[in-house]
Amino acid sequence: MHGCKNFSEYIQKGGVAKTTTTYNLAAAKAMTGQKVLMVDLDPQASLTISCAMNPDAEEYLNANICNLFDGRTNPAGCAFAVEASRLENLYIIPSNIDLAVTETKLVIGRNSDVQLRKAIKKLESYFDYCFIDCPPQLGPLLINALVAADEVIIPVKTDYLAYRGLKALIDTIHDIQSGDGDRSLNPDLILDGIIATLYDQRKSDQQDVLKLIEKIDTPLLGVIKNAAAVPRDVIEGLPVVLANKKAPTAKAYVEIAIKIL
Ligand code: ADP
Ligand code: MG
Repeated sequence: MHGCKNFSEYIQKGGVAKTTTTYNLAAAKAMTGQKVLMVDLDPQASLTISCAMNPDAEEYLNANICNLFDGRTNPAGCAFAVEASRLENLYIIPSNIDLAVTETKLVIGRNSDVQLRKAIKKLESYFDYCFIDCPPQLGPLLINALVAADEVIIPVKTDYLAYRGLKALIDTIHDIQSGDGDRSLNPDLILDGIIATLYDQRKSDQQDVLKLIEKIDTPLLGVIKNAAAVPRDVIEGLPVVLANKKAPTAKAYVEIAIKIL
């Protein structure tokens, strides 16, 4: 596996396009022939639903993300091909609402930060890439993702509050890398960069925030404009990179995927 990417955001209202970014970058990598796994790590199961899969389907009952935390289930049995994509090399470990209960157990469990890492290690020989779609809260699931990942990518909305939240998330990533005085959870974690999302270039405040983001010493991997095609295509269970290859947002995601090694 080349790397395990992690999509995070700071606590805030509304989405910053984590799920959309996960699906598009994973599909863009799969389109180049790589074998790609997506991990839905959000109890809201938006990524699972985006793939036109029913989180509550019987098929996934004992083969979903929650089972990766019990230490007994074979993680390979929890990976399903994303049929809607018509790609044979794009897989997902689905989520469902029970992941919220799993998360509360992680709060009290021993060695609970390394559970996802252990499970994903077992999948390394099957896949070239693994993309983890993170939940919005800075809680045990997000920590598990940051410990499991080799690299992290931060989608950020081009509004001022999101920009302010960015610093807190980058600080958390530094703590995971350096250990904040005690032990380091993942010293090898690399912060690949930021993706500016839902960008509306007609709005001057958004232009200003984009300039601020460009000045941060974390690389800006790309800018994804706010475009109707992006939410529309997902109704068909497809990311824009597959449904609408000529759309500027699709091209922007493909360019970012090329930068991710
Ligand atoms: P998150 O996972 O961070 O909560 P989502 O990926 O679910 O965010 O996106 C939030 C909402 O914004 C969804 O309705 C999604 O379809 C929409 N969206 C994402 N990217 C774009 C875009 N480039 N243009 C327009 N709408 C978008
Ligand atoms: Mg999401």
